[in-house]
Amino acid sequence: MKIDSKGNLIVGTTAILVIALLLICIFVITSINLIQHENIDSQSNDIFKYIVDDYSANIEILARESIDEATGKVYNGLPILDSQDQIKKNLNKRLDEMNREYGKKYDVEISSETLSVENTDSPWNILFKVKLDVKKGNERFSGIVEKNASVEGLRDPLPIAKLTILSGIMAYDDEIHYKTALSAYMLLHDFDSPESYIEATAPMHIRKCPYDPYVHHGDPGVLRDCLDKGYFHESADGSCYLCRLEGKGKCSHYGFEVFIQTHTPVKNESLSCSDHVVFADHYNGEKIDPDDWDSLILDSSHRKKYGLVEND
Ligand SMILES: [Zn+2]
Ligand SMILES: [Zn+2]
Repeated sequence: MKIDSKGNLIVGTTAILVIALLLICIFVITSINLIQHENIDSQSNDIFKYIVDDYSANIEILARESIDEATGKVYNGLPILDSQDQIKKNLNKRLDEMNREYGKKYDVEISSETLSVENTDSPWNILFKVKLDVKKGNERFSGIVEKNASVEGLRDPLPIAKLTILSGIMAYDDEIHYKTALSAYMLLHDFDSPESYIEATAPMHIRKCPYDPYVHHGDPGVLRDCLDKGYFHESADGSCYLCRLEGKGKCSHYGFEVFIQTHTPVKNESLSCSDHVVFADHYNGEKIDPDDWDSLILDSSHRKKYGLVEND
C-alpha cells in the first residue's frame, strides 16, 4: 500500500510537470506567433499609410493643374460659365486616372470624388475637398481630404474672359496686350477718354506683391519695381480667381487687383487703372505724373491705399 501510494505520487508529479511544460511551450509559441503577426501587421499598416499620404499630397498638385486647365480654356477663347464646376470636372478626370495608376502600382482599390472647390480667407489659395476611399486587403481608409492649391504663378484669366479673344486682346511676353480692345470697350460704354487705354498692358501671371503693407508703394523705387515685376495686390473690391475665370470684374469674395498700365501722352481724366475699376466699378482717376507717358491713372482712394498721396 505504501509503495503504491509512493508510486502514484511520482506519476502524479511527473504528469503535472509535463502538463506545465506543455502549457509553457504553447504559451511561448503563441507569443512568438503573435509578435510576428504584429510585425507583419504594422509593416502593411505603414505601407497603407504611405499610400494614403502620397495620394493626398498628389491631390494638391492635380488641383492646381485643374485650375490651370480651366485658365487654358479661357485663353483658347472658350467661355467658362461655372468655374467651380469646371475645375471639379477637371480634377475628377485627373483623379480617375490616378486611381487606375495607384491600383496597378500598389494593388489598392481607390475611389475619389471632388466635393467642393471654394474660396478661402486668402485670395491666393483655393480650397479643395475630396472624398477618398482606399481599400487594400483588410485595411481601409475612408475620409475627406482637404487641400489648398495656390493660384500664384497661374495666368490671370480676367482680361480675356471679360473682353473675349475676338476683341483683339493678346497675351505674349508675359504680358496682356490690350491693343484697342479696352478702348473699344470704353467707347462702347461711353467712358471718358477711351484713347488713353489704347495699347495698355497688364501682367499675365499672378505674382503676390511683397511690398506689404501697401502704403510702402510711396517709398522711393517701390512702385517702379512693383510695376516692372507685375505684382498683384489683395483687394476686397477686386474679384477672386474663380470669378475671374467667369469674366467677372468684381465679386463678393475677397480677391485681388492689378494695375492696367497705360502708355500715352494724353493727359485727360479717364478710368482709374485698377482692374476692378476698369472692368466693373468705373470711376475716374488722373495720372500721378502728367508728363510721364507710362504713369498710372489713379483715383484718390487707390492713391491712399498705395501711399501715393503727394505731401502738402
Ligand atoms: Zn505692389
Ligand atoms: Zn469671386
